Parts: sequence; structure tokens; C-alpha cells
Amino acid sequence: MHQTSSKVPTHKTRILVSACLLGQAVRYDGRYASRGHKQLLEWQAVGRVVTLCPEMAAGLPVPRPPAEIHQGQVLSDQGENLTDTFDRGAEIALQLCQNKKITLAILKENSPSCGSSFIYDGQFSGTKVRGAGKVTELLRNHGITVFSEEQIEEACCYLETTA
Ligand code: SF4
Repeated sequence: MHQTSSKVPTHKTRILVSACLLGQAVRYDGRYASRGHKQLLEWQAVGRVVTLCPEMAAGLPVPRPPAEIHQGQVLSDQGENLTDTFDRGAEIALQLCQNKKITLAILKENSPSCGSSFIYDGQFSGTKVRGAGKVTELLRNHGITVFSEEQIEEACCYLETTA
């Protein structure tokens, strides 16, 4: 029987989702962030999810040193400047969205790539500040709507109103 949900839109909009939100162990520490929010799993089951880890797509390994944004630059905790690599990951994410006509992304909050409302402050002190990661910034600059995993309801509303 065809799977249905009141929250799954009837059109074919696909959604870019951070790979670590769907059980893929791609984080810097070799872990995943979540096995998958129920709604994300429903969208995935009907073929509407495209997963990507932009940092891995740009060539970074797992595990990798933690990185944070400081004054627009992405620096590892060892002081290595990773800005070009993170920018490359953002470009890959944008190309994927444009190729697949994706206009909505749900990305992992707090990440220097995927954060959409908060990122860490660049001091590796565990302090969050308002801001967005490299991927989110680039996608938004190209008209793609980005929510975090904490805003699934908002993402559902977005899909319902743009269907
Ligand atoms: S770059 Fe994005 S998808 Fe990859 S581990 Fe970090 S938050 Fe998850």
C-alpha cells in the first residue's frame, strides 16, 4: 500500500538533508548526529531526500579535526585554515541542489558548514553564537530555503505553502 502522511506533500519536491541527520557516521568525530527524525524518515521512504555531507564531499576524512568559523575563515582546532575546502563543500551542495531542482534544505544546526541559526564562536570554547555555516550561507544566497533539524515543523509548513 502506498505510504501516506498528512505532512508529506503531494508534489515531488526533493529536500537536501545533512547526511549525519540520517544515521551516516560522517561527523568530524566519526559519529552521526541522529538516526533520523520520523518526518525525515518518511520523506526518505518516498524518495524525497537527497543526503550529502559537504565536508566529506570536499575531500575531508572521517574522523577529522573539529573546525569553527572565526571572522569568516574556517579554522581547525590546530589552526589550519580550511576555508577553501569548506567553500568547496558548499559549492558542491549548491550544484547538487541546482541539478536536482532542490529549493529546501534541512541541515544540522551548529555546524560550520550546515548550521543555519547558530554556529560555534571560533574559540573552541563550546560557545554558540548566532550565525550560519558555509553551506547554508551559499544556499540562501541562491534562493534556497534552509531549516535545521530543530525546525522540521517549519519545513513542513514551507512545503505545504509552496506546493
Ligand atoms: S558537514 Fe554537515 S552533513 Fe557533514 S557531518 Fe557536518 S553537519 Fe553533518
